[in-house]
Amino acid sequence: MSGDKHRILIVDDAATNIEILNEVLGAEYDSLFAMDGATALRLAVEQEPDLILLDVVMPGLDGHEVCTRLKADPRTRGIPVIFISGLSDESDEAKGLEIGAIDYITKPFSPPIVRARVRNHLQLKRYQDMLERLSVLDGLTGIANRRRFDEALDHEWLRSRRQGTTMSIIIIDVDCFKAFNDNYGHAAGDECLKRVAGVLAEGVSRPGDLVARYGGEEFVVIMPETDAAGAIVIAETLRRGIVSLAVPHAFSVAADVVTVSIGGATVIPARQTQGAEELVKLADARLYEAKHAGRNRIAWTAEPSPGKPVVGEVLR
Ligand code: GH3
Ligand code: MG
Ligand code: MG
Repeated sequence: MSGDKHRILIVDDAATNIEILNEVLGAEYDSLFAMDGATALRLAVEQEPDLILLDVVMPGLDGHEVCTRLKADPRTRGIPVIFISGLSDESDEAKGLEIGAIDYITKPFSPPIVRARVRNHLQLKRYQDMLERLSVLDGLTGIANRRRFDEALDHEWLRSRRQGTTMSIIIIDVDCFKAFNDNYGHAAGDECLKRVAGVLAEGVSRPGDLVARYGGEEFVVIMPETDAAGAIVIAETLRRGIVSLAVPHAFSVAADVVTVSIGGATVIPARQTQGAEELVKLADARLYEAKHAGRNRIAWTAEPSPGKPVVGEVLR
C-alpha cells in the first residue's frame, strides 16, 4: 500500500476498458495499468498491488495463464485476482475460480457492483493478513510456528533466569532432505515433514515443553527446567523415533531411511551474560558438528563446561 490508498492493478488489452475501470475506481484507489500479461506479471512483483483486475481474453499470455503464474509465485500468490470478462460462459467462470481467482465480473459491468466487490475483497484480504500475523501454528505441520517459538523462548529464558533454573533447547534438522525432495518430489517431502513433526510432537510431552517448526526442514524443542542428562534422553528418543518411521531414503548418506541430526544446548540463563539467542546459536553450532560427524546423531553443549560438546553415538 502506498499512503493510505490501496493499490489496484488493472490488466486489459483494450484501452477503453482500462479507462472505464479507472473512472469507476480511480478516485478511491491508486491504479496501475498493464495492457498485456507479461507487463502484468512484472508489475505484480515490482509494485505489490493489493488486488488485480484481470481481463481473461488477451493476445499472448491470456488472463488464465497470468493468474496461474501469479498463484505459482510465492511473491504474488497472496494478491487477490478478480477476472473481468466478456465471456459469460459458466465453465469459463469455473475455470477462473479453480485456478485461484477470488471472483469473476462479467462485462458490461455496473460501476456500483465493481466498486462494492473490490471493496469487499480488499476488506477480506485485510482480515486474512491479520489472521496470518496473529497465527501461531505452522501451516504445513500444524505444530507451533517460528513466531510462537521466538515468543516462547524469550518468555522461558526470562522465567528461567528469574528462578535460576536450567533450560535446554534442541535443533533438529532432517538429513539430506534436499536429495529426498529432488528424488521423491516436493509433495512426498511435505508428507515426510508432517510425519517428522508428528513424531516430535508425540515424543515431547512435558507441559512446559514446546516443539516448533523453525523453518524448512528444521525443528526446535524448548525444554524448560531440564538439565542436559534429561534433555539428551529426550533428544535420543526423538532421533530414534524418526528412524522408526522407516521412511525410505535411498539418497541419504546417513542411512537408507529418513534420519535427523540434533544439536542441543543446556544452560543456566542466570549465569549467562547474553540473551536467549545465544542458546540457539550454541545448539546450532552443535547441530553443525553432528552433521559433520556423520549425521543421524546428537551433539551437545552443557554448562558448567560450555564449549565442550558431547557427540552422541549412533544408537540403532
Ligand atoms: P543436510 O543433511 O546437511 O541437512 O542436507 P539437506 O539436504 O537436508 O540440507 P539443505 O539445507 O541443503 O536442504 C534443505 C532442503 O529442504 C531444501 C528444500 O528442498 C527442502 N525443504 C525446505 N522446506 C521444505 C518444505 O516445506 N517442503 C519440502 N517438501 N521441502 C522443503
Ligand atoms: Mg537445514
Ligand atoms: Mg537438512
